[in-house]
Amino acid sequence: MTKFEINRESAELEAQRLIESEWADRGLPVDPTYIARAIGVKVFEMTFPDDVSGLLKYFEGGKTPAIFVNSKTSVSRQRFTVAHELGHFVLNARQNPDDGMLDGDVFYRNGNSSNGTDPVEVFANQFAAELLMPRRFVQLLVNSKKSDLVLAADFDVSVAAMNNRLDNLKIKLEKVAG
Ligand SMILES: [Zn+2]
Repeated sequence: MTKFEINRESAELEAQRLIESEWADRGLPVDPTYIARAIGVKVFEMTFPDDVSGLLKYFEGGKTPAIFVNSKTSVSRQRFTVAHELGHFVLNARQNPDDGMLDGDVFYRNGNSSNGTDPVEVFANQFAAELLMPRRFVQLLVNSKKSDLVLAADFDVSVAAMNNRLDNLKIKLEKVAG
């Protein structure tokens, strides 16, 4: 078996596959919790210290993966966190298809996890961006000349996440009046 490549391209590809198989034509906004549960990952809300966005943990010898998301963070933040942790789950499954016992991830809001250069975190963030803001939908909506605020609302993400995604896709919005 060839080694799974951890990079932005493979992250986007994995997210696109999941969108196609589990979300199909349900439209926007994409619900990462629905997709997680559809592939057997449990999702729970709980309270954490403010700097922790969420985490991925495996129970029952790895057979039961679960994402815990900080209920004190904004809804858009929680959506991104679930998508990020789902990225870790997908990557773990690709890297260790037969290995039950896996380490979990703790996703810190301002830590290395969210803005570092660790390839695994870059993968999880890129996966989350593609899952919540699929490239083809971004292109479609940008063509309809919406502002970043309206785009962020359509995708149900933060304006910062929306702008990151637009930068990432090298899309410049035309200035919208008002
Ligand atoms: Zn992470």
